[in-house]
Amino acid sequence: MSDGSVGVSIRNASRRYGTFLALDDVSLDINPGEFVSLLGPSGSGKTTLLGVLGGFVMPSSGSIRFGARDVTYLPPHKRDIGVVFQNYALFPHLTVGENVAFPLRARHEPKSTWPERVARALEMVELGGYQDRSIAQLSGGQRQRVALARAFVFRPKLILMDEPLSALDKQLRESMQIELRHLHRRLEATIVYVTHDQREALTMSDRIAILRGGRLVQVDTPEGMHDRPATAFVASFIGEATLLPALRAGGDGVSVGGTTLRCAKPLPAAARLLLAVQTEKLMVAGPAEGPQDPALNRLSGRVADVIYQGESLRVFVTLDGGARVSLRQPAHYLGRLAIPAIGDPITVLLHPRDTIVVAEDEA
Ligand code: ATP
Repeated sequence: MSDGSVGVSIRNASRRYGTFLALDDVSLDINPGEFVSLLGPSGSGKTTLLGVLGGFVMPSSGSIRFGARDVTYLPPHKRDIGVVFQNYALFPHLTVGENVAFPLRARHEPKSTWPERVARALEMVELGGYQDRSIAQLSGGQRQRVALARAFVFRPKLILMDEPLSALDKQLRESMQIELRHLHRRLEATIVYVTHDQREALTMSDRIAILRGGRLVQVDTPEGMHDRPATAFVASFIGEATLLPALRAGGDGVSVGGTTLRCAKPLPAAARLLLAVQTEKLMVAGPAEGPQDPALNRLSGRVADVIYQGESLRVFVTLDGGARVSLRQPAHYLGRLAIPAIGDPITVLLHPRDTIVVAEDEA
């Protein structure tokens, strides 16, 4: 918790467009200083929820508080929030410095304070000394940094970001994700970040809120989301999971394609179960070097394909029951030695704690 940030409380927020419910009874508490990502497929309501926080979209019902202040019907400019969008929204005819100073002007901050505050904000996004450049002279990544500096130059306690990195190429996007994470620590502001990219959400967030069809499906830490997906949808949306029909096999066991697997966590009460086999949780059983622990779950099948992906090899396995799963293996020579040739038998290991069984979603 910090003085520079504010907690956000969303209570039963809904938003209708005609008869369509874009946001359906969403309640969420965000801690002061927390970085929360709103993650979900296209049309799931992420931007609508961010708009409700920013005051750009009025909720049809429900309430929004920033700390003790009810802001539900407050216009955006009275909410004291910084906002960053995907398309920068910079003023092309103003210099970098003038763009960053814009919120200070709009807030009638004393003009004598502008140069120092603008300089500090630009330094924080590694654009120190760029005040007099024109926007047209900047690269896409630099423009997005200017947009970031403009969003926090007036020290807002809450910053809202809607896919701010999606226009950047992959390499720049990944380095900006790390920079944003560091920036968040220094700013101490609460950040709510919209993305449809689960890797991006995992990299940056303290917690992730997953939306589907306007409803909040799960709110958890990145690790918790992997370890305890609440539904089959979450399990397949986070990470690369294959969902296989599973039958109860007594106690903590499930039977998948004729193989019984032990599960460390209690099974869901639902009638129809699915095993979520996550690519990153599987390991090839080596002939001698691999873990020999009899408590590990073993799935046998045949190697269907091996694809070289630079830092890793993606191994596709057709299990004896016919289902297809995949795993990653280090691409170095030792990693490759563990993989039999295409068509050969292979055994993959799955720890009972990574054996995730979810209820089949109704929808
Ligand atoms: P994306 O990742 O594609 O931006 P999203 O999760 O941000 O999607 P929203 O933009 O919040 O989704 O939209 C949620 C739903 O509400 C969509 O089905 C969208 O078509 C609908 N919607 C959004 N704004 C309006 C509007 N002004 N009028 C009518 N329907 C709208």
